Amino acid sequence: MEMNFCRRCGTPVTHIENDTVYRCENEHTLFASPAPTVGIFFIDADLSTVFAVRGRDPGKGLLDTPGGFIDPRESVEAALSRELEEELGLRYGDYEPPVYFASAPGTYRYQAEDRSVITLAYISRLKPGVTLVPQDDVADVKIIPLGDIKIDELANGDIKQLAHMLQQKML
Ligand SMILES: [Zn+2]
Repeated sequence: MEMNFCRRCGTPVTHIENDTVYRCENEHTLFASPAPTVGIFFIDADLSTVFAVRGRDPGKGLLDTPGGFIDPRESVEAALSRELEEELGLRYGDYEPPVYFASAPGTYRYQAEDRSVITLAYISRLKPGVTLVPQDDVADVKIIPLGDIKIDELANGDIKQLAHMLQQKML
């Protein structure tokens, strides 16, 4: 992430070290740490997984894992439950307890600014008969066999990397 000005006092910032630390003329230190996001792969017995079709930019029309950003003072697990209810109308009992899978860094471009993110991905299975109701920023859902996932149709670098890791693990 490229920071230009101090969010505390508005003076220009200097990049101090590695990718993370910036300092302004008034000695304020800013950390450009990645924002955590959470996503999930619902995998069924046929090794197909659920993708959300993004209803908004960035990446409108592209495929994403259900999930999203973590709110302040929220755990990753709570964020996942909340996002699944907001995006797909799912209650906690509609799916098996999510199991942590892997993480991948990515870039989320919003209002012409690149923000670095780190996506923590979980795996779960939907209970039989559960219906997905796309809503909020999800326009539709697609259930795609793991072997048929087209990496170019995935919204972000983190999701591309996680889908690739999932294929290597499961196929
Ligand atoms: Zn400052």
